[in-house]
Amino acid sequence: MPDPTGFLRIDRRLPQRRPVPVRIMDWREVYPPATDELIREQATRCMDCGIPFCHDGCPLGNRIPDWNDLVRTGGWAAAIESLHATNNFPEFTGRLCPAPCEAACVLGIAGGAPVTIKQVEVEIINRAVGAGLVTPHPVPEPSGRRVAVVGSGPAGLAAAQQLARAGHAVTVFERDDAIGGLMRYGIPDFKLEKEHIDLRLAQLAAEGVQFRTGVNVGVDVTAEQLRADHDAVLLACGALAGRDTPATPGRALRGVHLAMEHLVESNRVVAAAAAHARTAEAAGVVAVEPPSETGSSHVDGVPVDRPAIDAAGRHVVIIGGGDTAADCLGVAHRQGAAGVYQLDLYPEPPSARDEARDPWPTWPWVLREYPAHEEGGERVFAVAVQEFVDDGTGAVRAVRIAEVTVTKRDGERILTVVPGTERELPADLVLLAIGFEGTEQQPLLEQLRLVRNRRGAIDSDGDWQTATKGVFVAGDMHRGASLIVWAIAEGRAAAAAIHSYLGGVGELPAPVVPTAQPLAAR
Ligand SMILES: Cc1cc2nc3c(=O)[nH]c(=O)nc-3n(C[C@H](O)[C@H](O)[C@H](O)COP(=O)(O)OP(=O)(O)OC[C@H]3O[C@@H](n4cnc5c(N)ncnc54)[C@H](O)[C@@H]3O)c2cc1C
Ligand code: SF4
Repeated sequence: MPDPTGFLRIDRRLPQRRPVPVRIMDWREVYPPATDELIREQATRCMDCGIPFCHDGCPLGNRIPDWNDLVRTGGWAAAIESLHATNNFPEFTGRLCPAPCEAACVLGIAGGAPVTIKQVEVEIINRAVGAGLVTPHPVPEPSGRRVAVVGSGPAGLAAAQQLARAGHAVTVFERDDAIGGLMRYGIPDFKLEKEHIDLRLAQLAAEGVQFRTGVNVGVDVTAEQLRADHDAVLLACGALAGRDTPATPGRALRGVHLAMEHLVESNRVVAAAAAHARTAEAAGVVAVEPPSETGSSHVDGVPVDRPAIDAAGRHVVIIGGGDTAADCLGVAHRQGAAGVYQLDLYPEPPSARDEARDPWPTWPWVLREYPAHEEGGERVFAVAVQEFVDDGTGAVRAVRIAEVTVTKRDGERILTVVPGTERELPADLVLLAIGFEGTEQQPLLEQLRLVRNRRGAIDSDGDWQTATKGVFVAGDMHRGASLIVWAIAEGRAAAAAIHSYLGGVGELPAPVVPTAQPLAAR
């Protein structure tokens, strides 16, 4: 029986983040491990509501009150079982999810403080890993059916694990040199250290999932070949077509880049340093002391190489207000930027939920302060770039901005410049983090005769099947750029549909339908 008054005695509390001056010299995660005492205390705040709205907020339907109570009573081993029953990868969502479950928690009504659900989640999986409880499931009787998964992000990996555990022979094809999708080279290590991905991949491999990296499906192997070799194909290629601003004067100047050009390269040099650190540790070598000047970060004492697009000593302007922009900010500080502005088209959101606009338990429009924001930089709201200004040599030296108001007409966004508000911000590196235009147009789609819809995504029927028989779709490629929790949920649901298509015995869990949307008031 949970403690019905815990939340009255105990305040919401998160672990202390690592100090900013320390953490911007390395790439380790921002949060250190939390104590048992703190997590059990926070789990005690959960009331085990008769109608747990946290469930409805979570696309995976995580059994949140169950594992909160298990943590409260010290039942960590049972807690991970309960968590794994609905979520293949709590180490990813526990670190990265914006936690719609917390926005929907009953304790958040009328400005209250929700349970720290996400923190409890990550601590459950941390302890399970520490206790050796994340082991491969026994390999089942083979079904004799073969499934190809194209794309190795959270959607592809969740589907692969579900299908392998149902006895199907699964091969994941990834065009990059490492498995993980955006979690590998898109999301920086200070949000997700890559050993968490590697640990999970070892489990999938032991369960029979085959991985083939460096294979661009549609180029290195045709879609026809893939279909001929497999009984079903799941497309989980993400929504990686970055939005650009080609019409803005000066876009072609040196120093103006899409955010992902910067992030991917930066994450690759960190991955290389981490690999060196591991090799050194295995060989019993004491790691090199990092140099102390600004912009010389390290991984376990191994200095990180300078990437080609480097923020060190530069005035950086990041355009955009989401996850990608915040990640660019954290990277820029670790690289030793001289200063950073982050620009947003929209006015500064309120700090608390506006009940008239976004009533509980929906996801509220509020000012989101990522850990990267406490590391420095200045946010400028309600402005739009009018021009990237040339320094006379073909490189950017400033951005000219103006205040704007944003309205919508027939679904189109209309920007109106406020006269007399133009000004320049110094900039020698500009990063465009203004979103994604859906899945990339690539040979694979043409070969499968699939057409992107007006959101740039690939449609499916109610069973996750595309217009091409035996070809299914899940994750960002189906929803448009979204979240890891949705990718896992869609991967699990698409796996259930594929299992049924292959005539598999029994049913796999399907947490969402293809038309599922986040909780909304209208
Ligand atoms: C910078 C950044 C930060 C983010 N931060 C967060 C966060 O903090 N929390 C959160 O919940 N979400 C975050 N997201 C969103 C999240 O990463 C995505 O929603 C999620 O990764 C989508 O998963 P997916 O499996 O659908 O596709 P992806 O992770 O995009 O993986 C798709 C994979 O398919 C591969 N691929 C594509 N075409 C082919 C082909 N023809 N052959 C072989 N392989 C192919 C790609 O190389 C890629 O590896 C972030 C996104 C970005 C860009
Ligand atoms: S809504 Fe909040 S308090 Fe209620 S069961 Fe879920 S986590 Fe616990």
